[in-house]
Amino acid sequence: MRIDIITIFPEMFDCVFDASIIKRAREKGLVEIRAHNLRDWTTDKHKTTDDTPYGGGGGMIMKPEPIFAAVEAIKGEEEAPVILLTPQGRLFNQTVAEELARHERLIFICGRYEGVDERVREHLVTDEISIGDYVLSGGELAAMVITDAVVRLLPGALGYERAAAEDSHATGLLEGPHYTRPPEFRRWTIPEVLTSGHHARVAQWRRQQALKRTLERRPDLLASAPLSEQDKRWLREMGYNGPFAEDE
Ligand code: SAM
Repeated sequence: MRIDIITIFPEMFDCVFDASIIKRAREKGLVEIRAHNLRDWTTDKHKTTDDTPYGGGGGMIMKPEPIFAAVEAIKGEEEAPVILLTPQGRLFNQTVAEELARHERLIFICGRYEGVDERVREHLVTDEISIGDYVLSGGELAAMVITDAVVRLLPGALGYERAAAEDSHATGLLEGPHYTRPPEFRRWTIPEVLTSGHHARVAQWRRQQALKRTLERRPDLLASAPLSEQDKRWLREMGYNGPFAEDE
C-alpha cells in the first residue's frame, strides 16, 4: 500500500511514522508513506498556500491551485481515493478503516486555517472523512490517526496476526479485560479461569466479558453486532432487553 499526505507541515509526521508498528510495516515493505509539502506546488516566491475569504469574515482559506497541482502530480494516472480531512466528513470508525485498508493507494489532503476552497471539495476529492465531532487546528493529526488504524490492518503489520481481528470494534463489540503477571498484585488477583489451562473455558469467559463490557459501556453497539444465539442468551441473562441485529 502507498499513502500520500499533502500538508504544509510534513515534519509533523516524522516521529509518528518512525516508531512502533508503522515503522515496522514500512521496513517490511507493507506500506510506503510520503508526507509532501504543499508549498512545493506553489508558484510565487513566498510559496503562498492560503488567501483571504471572498465575502469577508475571519480566517484564511487554502488556495485551490497548489492542492490541485499536488494531487494531480502525486496521483498520476493511477486510481486512488483522494480524501479530504474535514470535521464535515463521514465519521471515521473501524469499518471505514477496513474499507480504506483494501485500497492500493490513499491520498490525504490536510486542511488548515478555515479549511480549503470549496472547489477542492467539489472537483478534486472523492471522499471526506472526520475523525470525530470536534474541531482540530489541522488535518495532520486526523491523517495520522487514520493511517495508524489502516496500517495495523495490513496483513503482516502486527506480530500477533489474530490481535487486530479481536480488537474492540473489529468484532462489533468492545474487547474484554486483559491481565498479565503477577497473578496477585496488592492483593488483587486475576480471574481463576485464566490460569486453568482450559482453552474452551477461557474463550467462553473472554466472549462473556466482551459482551458484558459492551453492554456496560456501549450498549448501542449491541443492536448491530453479529451475535450467536448463545451470545444473545448471555446478554439477556445480563439484563439486556434491547434489539439485536437481524440473524445472519
Ligand atoms: N472551518 C472549518 C469548519 O468549520 O468545518 C474547520 C477548519 S479546521 C480549524 C482546520 C482543518 O483541520 C480542516 O480543514 C481539516 O482539515 C482539519 N480538521 C479539523 N477538525 C477535523 C476533524 N474532526 N476531522 C478531520 N479533520 C479535521
